[in-house]
Amino acid sequence: MTYSVEHWIDGGPTPGGGPPNPVVDPATGAQVGTVATADAAVVDQAVRGAAEAQRPWAATSLARRTEVMFRMRELVVQHTDELARVISREHGKTIADAVGEVGRGRETLDFVCGISAASKGEFTADASTGVDVHSLRQPLGVVAGITPFNFPAMVPFWMHPVAIATGNAFVLKPSERDPSASNLVARLYQQAGLPDGVFQVVHGGAEAVDALLTHAGVAAVSFVGSTPVARHVHRTATEHGKRVQALGGANNHAVVLPDADVEHAAKQLTAAAFGSAGERCMAVPVAVAVGPVAEPLVAALKARASALVVGPGDTAGTDMGPLITAGARQRVIDHVTAAVGAGADAVVDGRELVVAGHEQGYFVGPTVLDHVTTDMSAYCDEVFGPLLAVVRVETFDDALALVNASPFGNGAAIFTSSGAAARRFAHEVTAGMVGVNVPIPVPVAYYSFGGWKDSLFGDHHAHGPEAVRFYTRAKVVTTRWPGSAEAAASLSFPSTTG
Ligand code: NAD
Repeated sequence: MTYSVEHWIDGGPTPGGGPPNPVVDPATGAQVGTVATADAAVVDQAVRGAAEAQRPWAATSLARRTEVMFRMRELVVQHTDELARVISREHGKTIADAVGEVGRGRETLDFVCGISAASKGEFTADASTGVDVHSLRQPLGVVAGITPFNFPAMVPFWMHPVAIATGNAFVLKPSERDPSASNLVARLYQQAGLPDGVFQVVHGGAEAVDALLTHAGVAAVSFVGSTPVARHVHRTATEHGKRVQALGGANNHAVVLPDADVEHAAKQLTAAAFGSAGERCMAVPVAVAVGPVAEPLVAALKARASALVVGPGDTAGTDMGPLITAGARQRVIDHVTAAVGAGADAVVDGRELVVAGHEQGYFVGPTVLDHVTTDMSAYCDEVFGPLLAVVRVETFDDALALVNASPFGNGAAIFTSSGAAARRFAHEVTAGMVGVNVPIPVPVAYYSFGGWKDSLFGDHHAHGPEAVRFYTRAKVVTTRWPGSAEAAASLSFPSTTG
């Protein structure tokens, strides 16, 4: 029995656009549903509806907006298991991992429950004689979010709670691979009391994205996905006069120094490399082993990676699910094969793994490659699969230079017991998010999330205080009331010392 996912426009499921796309369970390779594909007309309908709804929403008191966000937070808590099951079915990640994703996404709702404090302006009395000045931030209007398959709930949650709490309407274009979570979130917003039209969902692929990037009614675009598409989104949307933040791909390195706790590092790196089958923008696909730590580290990684249980995400006891598509599975296998052919040592090799009863699923087992060199595609490309490449270097300086030579700069981590080494790494590494004995340093929602270099195009990071600035624009009001203290009238350019 299959299902169909339609757009969510003006408060309910809405058909329209081109022929629907299949939705596939990656654990079986079988089609489980279809998803609508928006064209320019559907996008226009969603943006117009959002613009209608945005004006009264922006005029709604902060107290009322906060109340809606509080209710939404409670509804997301109540529906966490339902969301997690929907995510696991279409993405393949384990239920426990999906529950974690929903929890990290919900943190942004926690943050916006304090939006009245987070969006406060400033006031200066008597800036000049009888003159007061205050600043405020106002919503942009209709803003769009375009999101990737790997976090179908959390990444959109980085965007829409802040955009909506600050008085905007939000049009979401989620990944076509796992679309159902977005419609469930739309239903929860409706139950929370959000007026219809303030949160819209249009489904589809590049055609829907390009229609949003070029639509005159869209004021800003938040994008998260791969670097080539992030570049396209940034260029096209800025050319069309929009504010843009486009978060791209990653190839995060973790440096392990000889003074690190090797067991702790191996445990953390195993989770960071193989959690969600490596399909996380904050996964750690590269371990940089410095000097003599390489031998014990590789041995500990081998033991831990070999013990992981691979299977369908909704089955108890599974540590790691399938890749998202057959193509993604083949890409990982090809990178491993090329690296082994070029001299890398497959310490753990997941290429031949078959999960009994799920022979058509897109599974690859955890794979650890030792003696990887920087000219191998398994090192240079964003593999986005269950592959941990160990690169051996001699010194801390070599390791830092290697990390900083990467074109990506999302996250970076160091494992050490030296405060001085950790401090130097945190200051000198060219990445936006740094972990010290923490492999996946995804910031909590009241800080902001973002990378450097080819991992982010635009000025603002996602969620937290940077998102409040991204989704609002500044205004400064200078006031003088007749009858209050007043300097003598003059035709000269007004001076504040008058
Ligand atoms: P993707 O770039 O293929 O797709 C992202 C979104 O763009 C989807 O909604 C998709 O429909 C749309 N899209 C795809 N091709 C397009 C095109 N040619 N023109 C216009 N729109 C297009 O990414 P994905 O495979 O869904 O997700 C994985 C990627 O996302 C990885 O590179 C990962 O590192 C990255 N990612 C980055 C972050 C971060 O915070 N930097 C977070 C999560 C994922």
